[in-house]
Amino acid sequence: MANKSREVLTHTGEPEAPDKIQAIENEVLTDAEKRSPEFLAYLGKVDFDLLRKLFFEIFKRIGMDETSFNFLGPERIVESNHGTTYSGIDNAIIIALKNLEATGRPTEQDFAHVLIHEEVHATAKTICRGEIDPTWLADYFPNKVNSIPENQFRELRYGLSRLTLPKKSIHGRTRVFYLLNEGVTEKLAREIFEKYANVKDMDVKEHGKKVNDEKNPENYYYPIPVRFVEALVDRIAKETGLESKMVWESFVRAAYTGEDMENPELRQAFAETISDDFLSRLSRLEIGDEEQMLELIEELKKNN
Ligand SMILES: [Zn+2]
Repeated sequence: MANKSREVLTHTGEPEAPDKIQAIENEVLTDAEKRSPEFLAYLGKVDFDLLRKLFFEIFKRIGMDETSFNFLGPERIVESNHGTTYSGIDNAIIIALKNLEATGRPTEQDFAHVLIHEEVHATAKTICRGEIDPTWLADYFPNKVNSIPENQFRELRYGLSRLTLPKKSIHGRTRVFYLLNEGVTEKLAREIFEKYANVKDMDVKEHGKKVNDEKNPENYYYPIPVRFVEALVDRIAKETGLESKMVWESFVRAAYTGEDMENPELRQAFAETISDDFLSRLSRLEIGDEEQMLELIEELKKNN
C-alpha cells in the first residue's frame, strides 16, 4: 500500500509477497526470546503507552494517515552485541547496550532516548527494495546484522537517506544524506525525549550534558548533525521569510514522507542560495565526517 510508512518491494519495485514479509518479521520474535535480564530490565522501565501517544501527536501534527503508523512495541525491540539500529527489513529496533556506555553505565535516560531515536527511524518513511534470500534468515541475527541483510537489497531508504547496492555485492555501494538524516532524526528524538522525561519526572541535567558533548567521538546523540540541522533550518527561514518552526516542520514531514533529496529543483535552490556544491557535499557525509559538517555549518552562517 502506497500510504504505508514502511514498504518492502521486490527488486522490480512490486510489493513483496505478504508471506515473505511475515517470515522475516517473525524471525525477530525468536530473537526477542534471547534478550538478557539486564536488557529486559531497561526495556521494562520504558512507558510504551506514553511513547506511543507522543509519537502519535507528531503524526497528527504533520497530517499523516494513521494507518501508516509504524510505532514498534517492546516485542520488536531486540538486543545485539554489535550495533544499535533500526532494521527496515525485519521491522525491528536493535539495541546494543555497549553503544550507550561511552560515558559509563547506561542510565534509564540513555535507554529511553536511544529507543526514541530508533522509533523515529521506524516511524519515518522506509523503503526496502531488493530480494529476500531465505538463506540469510537462519543465521544473520544477532551477530551479522550489519553485514548480511543489506547486500541482499538493492536499495534502502530511511527517511531522507538512501543506500544503494549492486546485486549480491557490497562493493560499489552508495549512500547519500546519511548524516543529514541522523541530524533530523535525532533533533526530533530530542523533542520527544524532552516531553517524555518531563511527564516521567526524570532528572535530565547530567543527560543533557552528555547529549551535547561534541568532544566525545562516541557520542550516540549526534550533537554536530543536530547543530547542522538547526543552522540549516535558520538559514532557510531567513532566505524564505518563514518562521524557523515552520521550516523545521517541513523537514519532519519530509523524513516521514520520504522526500527525494536528490531532486534537481532542490539542488538548484541550494545552488542559488548557498553554494553550488553545498548539497552534494552534504549528501556524502557519513559517520566520522563531522569535521566536514562543521565546515558546512560555518558556511551556512557566513554568507548569510
Ligand atoms: Zn539513527
